Amino acid sequence: MDLDIDTVRVARTRADCALRPGEAFLGGGTFLYSEPVAAGVTGLVDLTGMGWEPWSVDGSGLRVAGTCTLEELVSGPGSLGGPPGVPGPYRGLGIVGECVAALTLSAKVARTATVGGNLALGLPAGSMVGLFAALDAVAVVWTPDGGSREVAVSDLVTGAGSVALSGGEVLREVRVPAAALGQRTAFRRASLTPNGRTAAMVTGRRIGDDVALVLTASVPAPHVLLVGVDDHEALDRRIEGIAGAGDSAWYEDTHGSPAWRAAMTRRLAHEALEELGGTA
Ligand SMILES: Cc1cc2nc3c(=O)[nH]c(=O)nc-3n(C[C@H](O)[C@H](O)[C@H](O)COP(=O)(O)OP(=O)(O)OC[C@H]3O[C@@H](n4cnc5c(N)ncnc54)[C@H](O)[C@@H]3O)c2cc1C
Repeated sequence: MDLDIDTVRVARTRADCALRPGEAFLGGGTFLYSEPVAAGVTGLVDLTGMGWEPWSVDGSGLRVAGTCTLEELVSGPGSLGGPPGVPGPYRGLGIVGECVAALTLSAKVARTATVGGNLALGLPAGSMVGLFAALDAVAVVWTPDGGSREVAVSDLVTGAGSVALSGGEVLREVRVPAAALGQRTAFRRASLTPNGRTAAMVTGRRIGDDVALVLTASVPAPHVLLVGVDDHEALDRRIEGIAGAGDSAWYEDTHGSPAWRAAMTRRLAHEALEELGGTA
């Protein structure tokens, strides 16, 4: 931990969220406090002081605050979903627990790490991206001029560690539409070792006669593939299309080679498509 900063301000109002020169937002701090301070950062603005309700659900869908911790996500929306595959108004949330577990965080880290921090980091293994993209969620972003805008979670991450957030923008919350909450979802994950960093992850949702599959971790930025139910040939073609994009199509780091990630992604995607087949 390298805490070579001058100030930490606790934000309590929206006006407090206006960054001063050298400031960056602080969520749970599990990433910020585990890395050397980024060049030029001299102060942090703690968003957890905003007191946002971690999550709520009503007729319009589910809202999850940027400051909702991963533990709160599992014990709240995660518990609504019930076991994967079991019908119910929140069956789509049956994959929440698996998506959080995919982060392989210690209990201590999961207690403080936030949904907003995970999304804002834009790491390929950021499983909140795969979770909320599969649930067709939008991120509500507070802009520094006092306004707000929405961006689909599937469009939020633009590359490894790069997100569609400009300086001073706050990831206020993610919103999952009510329709997605009741739809079947599936989750698959691969890593080199049982407790290792996620190297390939596929989340999916059944939408009528189609299935939306979200590929993350094996690719620098998410891919959303919409294919017909049981149409494994179409899925192969879509995955070939990713491979055709060139050497950088599949992510590479110590947690898996591009070729292995590509093979795992294909296998997991077919498994998820299979699981989401049959009656809607
Ligand atoms: C043991 C361990 C394992 C980990 N494993 C993984 C993993 O498998 N995959 C993975 O993706 N990460 C992993 N991480 C990294 C990190 O802990 C998580 O991504 C976590 O969810 C980050 O959330 P946080 O609230 O702690 O973010 P912070 O550390 O507080 O912030 C992270 C970044 O997001 C910005 N930020 C935070 N909240 C907001 C917001 N609401 N609006 C705008 N910007 C914001 C901050 O300015 C900072 O740039 C791991 C960390 C540890 C310590």
